[in-house]
Amino acid sequence: MPDCIFCRIAAGEIMSPRVYENGRVFVINDINPVTKVHALIITKKHIGDVLSAGDESADLYKDIFDAVRETARIKGISESGFRLITNCGEDGGQSVPHLHFHLIGGQKLGVKLV
Ligand code: AMP
Ligand code: ZN
Repeated sequence: MPDCIFCRIAAGEIMSPRVYENGRVFVINDINPVTKVHALIITKKHIGDVLSAGDESADLYKDIFDAVRETARIKGISESGFRLITNCGEDGGQSVPHLHFHLIGGQKLGVKLV
């Protein structure tokens, strides 16, 4: 196993309560939230980034989008809205090289680059 913080959380070596979990992904609260709701949708398997995810099966994509929907529901932000972000590489500012998606919301979101 690579020395990867999200792999260690996935393996239960580092405790982090699950907000939601399905076959291929799990969801935790970000340790350093930037908004009232800031959850991380993380693949159980070590996949470096969204580019590498292209080699995975459609089952993974379904589990990711199921997790987005269910996390938004659990957090109570399905109606109010949210953003889903994945940072990739150096310019993208990715700090943990294990595929994950930030689901942020629970408040009006400010800076809107796109
Ligand atoms: P990124 O910069 O897009 O790779 O995002 C990595 C995110 O992981 C950051 O928002 C960190 O706050 C978050 N993070 C790092 N370590 C942990 C941890 N042990 N538990 C929860 N979130 C973490
Ligand atoms: Zn990993």
